[in-house]
Amino acid sequence: MNTLAIDIGGTKLAAAIINSALEISQHMEIPTPANAEPQALEQALAQLVEAYQGKAQRVAVASTGIIDKGILTALNPDNLGGLNHFPLQAIVEKYTGLPCVVLNDAQAAAWAEYCHLSAQFKHVTFITVSTGVGGGIVINGELLIGPHAFAGHIGHIQADPNGPRCGCGRVGCVEAIASGRAIAAGATQELEGKNAREIFAQALSGNLQAQQRVARSAQAICQLIANIKALLDTECIVLGGSVGLAKGYRQQVEHQLAQLPQAFQVPVYSAHYQHDAGLMGAALWSEHLVI
Ligand SMILES: [Zn+2]
Repeated sequence: MNTLAIDIGGTKLAAAIINSALEISQHMEIPTPANAEPQALEQALAQLVEAYQGKAQRVAVASTGIIDKGILTALNPDNLGGLNHFPLQAIVEKYTGLPCVVLNDAQAAAWAEYCHLSAQFKHVTFITVSTGVGGGIVINGELLIGPHAFAGHIGHIQADPNGPRCGCGRVGCVEAIASGRAIAAGATQELEGKNAREIFAQALSGNLQAQQRVARSAQAICQLIANIKALLDTECIVLGGSVGLAKGYRQQVEHQLAQLPQAFQVPVYSAHYQHDAGLMGAALWSEHLVI
């Protein structure tokens, strides 16, 4: 059985074929349309799946946003241009003619990482620090989706009541402080206008302001982890996303976490599936649901 896995992110749409042995092939990426119109995303998806006609027997989609009963709604309008009620599952089924399962991308990644760790742990929380901040929670071997598919949207837990306004409408969310977009947005002087990747490079080469921006992000993620530990008693945290997987970032989070009382400490791992955690998780989820 081959699964066409698709990952819809804020900056790119990725796709690949994943076979029964979990081997990934025919990887392809196109930019996420900058245009907020639903037709633009529909066209981009149609273009993406066209290349995979006849190569898979089912489709599994991981997407940023709230994915409830096959419908996509962007919680943070900055991430997917304010898409509201986008019939993602129906559109993918229309263009592929195949059965399709859709899931939030961080929930999908959590499922992939849990499947990888399931011999050791039954309670796993995945945190992605990327363009935004997201998460997925596995409790006692079950993925927590929630009655409104909102479970695990931990980027919108408040980190600082005096912090910047978040795209979701709240003030001081973790996402508004720790995400790649937030790292870039607060930069001034010599770093103004640089993106998160460039600011990371500057931090590694000794720029003080860049180091402070990255440290503030890591500190917010550390406090988020402590809150998650207190709430769920999770057995381990898996960090993913372009910021979460950036050189030295996990070590900074671990260093901050080590300063907290023992009860809040929890092992932190880097995502085994790296940038493919969403694709792999969607495929594993479709297998789990036996679609
Ligand atoms: Zn928010």
